[in-house]
Amino acid sequence: TQAHVDAVAAARELNAYVLETPEKALEMARASDERLAKGQGGTLEGIPLGVKDMFCTEGVRTTACSKILGEFVPTYESTITSQLWRDGAVMLGKLNNDEFAMGSSNETSAMGNVINPWRAEGSTENLVPGGSSGGSSAAVAARLCLGATGTDTGGSIRQPAAFTGIVGIKPTYGRCSRWGVVAFASSLDQAGPFARTVRDSAILLRSMSGFDPKDSTSVDLPVPDYEAALGRSVKGLRIGLPKEYRVEGMPAEIEQLWQKGADWLRDAGAEVVEISLPHTKYALPAYYIVAPAEASSNLARYDGVRYGTRVPGRDVTEMYENTRAAGFGAEVKRRIMIGTYVLSAGYYDAYYLRAQKVRTLIKRDFDLAFEAGVDAVLTPTTPSPAFAIGSKSEADPVEMYLNDIFTVTVNMAGLPGISVPAGLSSDGLPLGLQLIGRPFDEETLFALGHAVE
Ligand code: GLN
Repeated sequence: TQAHVDAVAAARELNAYVLETPEKALEMARASDERLAKGQGGTLEGIPLGVKDMFCTEGVRTTACSKILGEFVPTYESTITSQLWRDGAVMLGKLNNDEFAMGSSNETSAMGNVINPWRAEGSTENLVPGGSSGGSSAAVAARLCLGATGTDTGGSIRQPAAFTGIVGIKPTYGRCSRWGVVAFASSLDQAGPFARTVRDSAILLRSMSGFDPKDSTSVDLPVPDYEAALGRSVKGLRIGLPKEYRVEGMPAEIEQLWQKGADWLRDAGAEVVEISLPHTKYALPAYYIVAPAEASSNLARYDGVRYGTRVPGRDVTEMYENTRAAGFGAEVKRRIMIGTYVLSAGYYDAYYLRAQKVRTLIKRDFDLAFEAGVDAVLTPTTPSPAFAIGSKSEADPVEMYLNDIFTVTVNMAGLPGISVPAGLSSDGLPLGLQLIGRPFDEETLFALGHAVE
């Protein structure tokens, strides 16, 4: 823990941590030592972790990297982090993210950019670490913690994991409790771990998972020993390559990586087949209706009365307006406006309801593939490696949204998805492969991920 506390303090230029909690870390580490000395202890004793600033941590400032939460200090701990501490893990601090987890590059954070510890060969240009969990990915990749928590609404664990050469898994919707996690789009949000190996992610996910009576969408199923799944053979498993993911303009090196992944799994004894998920092309537009709709409703609670920042006005309405105008950043305001629009009378049927129907079709595509005997689907995680900070134009948010093209389907269908580092681009940047599984079959993803890594 001390070594990690020092490493974090020595790497502040990455801006991965928005709050360091060294005293708390050392106190937790000492308590862990005492438990171990007594022959007690859990599966994560003394393991130093970073926590995305979307997780409420009791007595420790939690902002979702938004000015509107100001210096908010929760009086409660999220279920997931309390399970990690229960198992002996140690908290090093809170990690940077896109404001309210809306973004793909960590550039919407009110706490500033995060720098990816990777650079293209021979280049001094700073790259984004992905988003929205950019602090988590950068911190794990730069060895500023042994693992980190993330949240994934449309790819925010898998895409940053791919951009930084580490492992990220978004479990099945309902696998982990969302209680105490700041809400973005409640029907899509799921938390999961970042780690440097598939084994570490399996160990972390087991601790984070499980039914929670405080989250009515968490599912009451036993939590398997995910680590044990790494020993499983992948022989005979059927892997689907969806032809619709071969999108126009996909760089040749991404296509090659995908083929290489298929070859590795074939060599390990799996059967690789082409499949069709015909509604794939509607996933991104439908996501960018459903997610903002839910966000606009979830973010209505930031009114200057209950949490964080308040900017006074002549009356209560003006106080709301002033608070929300000053507290939210541009991307969050854009989502609130889109969301409010698609939910409004007259547009609800044309946009929101239509998007929900598309969502059902996307889920049905996967259901049919699984019914036909496919055990997992293999795709690239992202259409490109990490890009330069500031390189995507602010004037065209859709350019940024296109980053999520391979990841949003998984959230729309509620399925588990893992990103595993699978090689380097021609200029030496990490690339990831994504494996998508049946509901609650994270074990197959760990077995396959282990065969690929
Ligand atoms: N990039 C996507 C968005 O901006 C996904 C973010 C996430 O998964 N939290 O909505």
